[in-house]
This record gives sequence, structure tokens and C-alpha cells, in this order.
Amino acid sequence: MSNKKPKIIIIIGRSGCGKGTQAKLLIKEFGFEYLGSGDLLRKRGEKDDFSGEKIKKVMDSGKRIPTPIMFRIWAERIEEMKDEVNKKGLIVDGNPRSLREAELMKDAFEWYEWKDTRAIVLDISEQEAFDRLTKRRICKACGRLIPWVGNFKEMKICDECGGELITRADDNPEAIKARLAYYKKDVEPAIDYYEKQDKLIRVDGDKPIEDVYYDIKKAVE
Ligand SMILES: [Zn+2]
Repeated sequence: MSNKKPKIIIIIGRSGCGKGTQAKLLIKEFGFEYLGSGDLLRKRGEKDDFSGEKIKKVMDSGKRIPTPIMFRIWAERIEEMKDEVNKKGLIVDGNPRSLREAELMKDAFEWYEWKDTRAIVLDISEQEAFDRLTKRRICKACGRLIPWVGNFKEMKICDECGGELITRADDNPEAIKARLAYYKKDVEPAIDYYEKQDKLIRVDGDKPIEDVYYDIKKAVE
């Protein structure tokens, strides 16, 4: 990887599409830096001040942090990690959540002279996303998360400790429906934006994890 042209990979998809898993695999193999909005916000929410407390409250309610607040935290982190990004490239997870954020991100990347940007959409249908989010389970004993995908659907007890598998309490259908509606309304225009610039790669996220990863790798290399 050339130092002058770090790869910037923006990974987008409905809740439950498996972005986090795929991002981890890419980092393991290619050594990208990782910029995840969820992690950044959770960390900021731990700070004992006005915005810290408010971020925690808003996140716990399942609502979104407004763009100016989110973007400030995001841009500060980019500034801190820019030297590492120049060496390794970057995976962006969790942004953009709207067309406006996609435009702001473009301006930020231009500032750092990162020209090799591309967006990967992990496509899963709304129904598939809903099933994955409402049917995924967690081990009552060790906390292992069992996704609702492939062979995991057949699993009866935890394959690591033999514990009982239960549905996660926070995956309530109303909140999930709201998140999926929001994706359609706000995130899809951001996807169109990348498509128009010929920077978009669509990957079928319904396939098994390793097949999805194979397709992503082809897009990244
Ligand atoms: Zn377990």
C-alpha cells in the first residue's frame, strides 16, 4: 500500500448486516485503522460533563446524535489518527447516516488529501435485517452473541460453554422498525451519492460470512 494513497473504505449497511464482523476481518488481514462512530460515542458518553451525559441518554433511548455533535467528535478522532491512516488506510463504520454527513466526510477526506475513497454497501433486505435483529440470541451464561445467520440458526445451546440461549431484551421490534425506516429515508440518499461518483460497491450480505468477505476483499484490493 502506497503511503501517498491510503485506502479509505466506508462500510455501510442496515443494522444486522454484519458490518462489524466484516470490518474486523479486513483489519486482521490488511491492518487498516478503524473509525467506528458507535465506539466513539460510547467513549464520549463516559465523560462526566453536559455532552457526555446527554450522549449517553440519547444513545440509551435508541435515538441519533445530531450531525454537528457527531461530526465534531468524528473529525477530532480523524485528526488524531491521520498519521496512522496515511500508513495503513482506514475503515469507517457508522457514518455517513445521511447525505449531509456524506458531503461533510468528503470535505474532511479532501483536507487530508485522501483520494482513494470507496463505499461498500452490505446489502441485506429489510426482512432479513429484521429477522437478524429480533432473532439473534445471547448466551445467558457467558454472554456470547449468536447471530441469526447460517448454521447459527440451528444452535440449541452455547457452543462455547453449553449455556442457555436467550433473545436479547434490547432488540425490541418497535425500535428496530424505526432504525430500518431511518435507513431508507436518510442513509439511502448517501448511498446514491457514492453511486453517482462511481465509488460504490454493492455486496450481497445475505451470503455466508466467508463468502461476503471474499466479495469485499475483491472490492478492496
Ligand atoms: Zn456460553
